[in-house]
Parts: sequence; structure tokens; C-alpha cells
Amino acid sequence: MIFELNKSVNEPIILPKKYGVELFLKREDKIHPFISGNKYRKLKYNIEEAKKKGFNKLLTFGGAYSNHIAAVAFAGQEFGFQTIGIIRGDELEDKIEENPTLIFARACGMEFKFISRQLFREKHSDVFIEKLEKEFDQFYLLPEGGTNNLAVKGCEEILTKEDCDFNFICCAGGTGGTISGIINSSKPSQKILGFPALKGSFLNKDISKFVRKKNWNLILDYHFGGYAKVNIELIEFINKFKRENNIQLDPVYTGKMIFGIFDLLEKGYFKEGSKILAIHTGGLQGIAGMNKVLKQKKMPIIE
Ligand SMILES: *Cc1c(COP(=O)(O)O)cnc(C)c1O
Repeated sequence: MIFELNKSVNEPIILPKKYGVELFLKREDKIHPFISGNKYRKLKYNIEEAKKKGFNKLLTFGGAYSNHIAAVAFAGQEFGFQTIGIIRGDELEDKIEENPTLIFARACGMEFKFISRQLFREKHSDVFIEKLEKEFDQFYLLPEGGTNNLAVKGCEEILTKEDCDFNFICCAGGTGGTISGIINSSKPSQKILGFPALKGSFLNKDISKFVRKKNWNLILDYHFGGYAKVNIELIEFINKFKRENNIQLDPVYTGKMIFGIFDLLEKGYFKEGSKILAIHTGGLQGIAGMNKVLKQKKMPIIE
């Protein structure tokens, strides 16, 4: 099987001279033409494992605009698996046409099962998985967000030898798989900063399951009210960043992280002379869906 990824490069970001630091963005959003960023890294070894074990079906879970759902649907098509997406929210069943992520996943051949938000919370329980096995027969299960040991292994390939002279490495967090891989392949002298896209500090525990090193901590101040929540300030920041750097950020993860880094710079968090690397984990497929929501709310959209 050929799992090809483009090399991602570190691009310099324009900063005011007064900060006295350098900031680079690792363009993981460029590693694949359709599946941008970390979700493909997380699938790599899982797809190999599923093939090796003889599965022909992948099943996974996600919300309506999930980057993971889009990635699994595409990878399934590319590597010859049927794909099943268990989608949160049974009210979405007859609204597929309004949802760019689900339209894309369906075009890749993904079959959907919509379940209530309540049932979705129990999705990883044995009882529920057994029911799914009765309904869909044998499948290779990918957890929500795609995080497991093999996903972390894939994310250990994000940092390369050339990245060893950065003092700080910044990464957005959802389930913590991506930052775990980065921590595992970092140098002990480097500091890894995680920017959770969700409210709360539960990610500390989740990351600790996958890493041994202690050279990391989470910055909990930039979730903007919770997962996929945005405000006008964030949207305007993302649009301004694009005008100035010609780089698109996503509103759920990377936009919040870069906003946080800029705020920390202003507050003097980074010592003069620091070299900072931020990871652009992708997620750009979700912008079309977010813009639909923003239009409905009569808010400015992502340009
Ligand atoms: C899913 C996702 C993340 C979070 O990755 P985790 O491994 O779940 O922490 C970050 N950025 C983007 C763009 C994502 O799609």
C-alpha cells in the first residue's frame, strides 16, 4: 500500500520586531490535497493495521462537520475499504444536502448512521459496539477523533530532525493524539504547548496516557467558549492573518491556537530570542460548513 504524503514546510510568519522572537508555521495542511493535516497522519498506521488484519470495512464516529469523518471517508475510498460514519444528531438525517462535510463523505462512498446526542455519548460502550457489529458485520473501529496508539505513532512523524532547534512547539488539541505524538518525538529541551479547542482540563489526563515526557503544558485560555464556538474577534483575526500571511486558518483549532500565540506574545510569555514552531494541523474542509452557520447568525464569515 502506498500512503503518500507531501512534505510539510515551515513558513515564517510576519511578526512585529518588538517581540524579538521568531515564529514559523509547519504547513501540515499541505500534506494531502483533500485530507489536510493531522487526520491523515492519524490514519496511516491504522489503515495499515486494518489491511493486515484483513478488514474491508472501517467504522467511526463524529460530528456533522468533523474533519475526521471526511478523512476516514476519503481514506476508505483511496485504500479500498467500505466506510461507515456514525454521526451525532439524528435530526441531521434529512439535512445532508446542507452539510458540505457529509456531502463530501457521501461522495467518497461513506454510509451514515445518525444517532441521538444521548446515544452518541455511549458510543464506545461494549453494548453499543455489539449492536453495531450485528448491524454492520465485522469492521475495524476507529475511535472518535481517530486517537489511539497507532494514531499517536503516525503523529510522531510530524516533527523532523530539522525542527530540533525550536524552543517552543505549539499545537491545537481535541482528543490529544496529535500533541502526544509531537511530545514523543520532541527533544526534552523543547517545550510543547497545547491549545485545547474544548473547555476544561481533561486533556491533561488523556495526553498522559500516551506520553512519558514532562516537557509540555496546556494553555487553557483560548477555547472561545467551547468546541466549534467562535466570536467576531476570532473570525476577524483569522481573516486578517490570511490577508497578511496568505495562509488560511480554520476556526475550530488552528485559528484559536494562533490567536492564543499572538496574545501570549503581546503578554511577553515568550523570552526574547525564542524560536517558536506552530503546527498547522489543517481542518480547512470545515470552513464551508462553519460559514453556513455564521451566515445564519448574521455574523461575518471566514473569507
Ligand atoms: C482533529 C484536529 C485537531 C485535534 O487533534 P487531536 O489529535 O484530536 O488533539 C487539531 N487540528 C485540526 C485541524 C483537527 O482537525
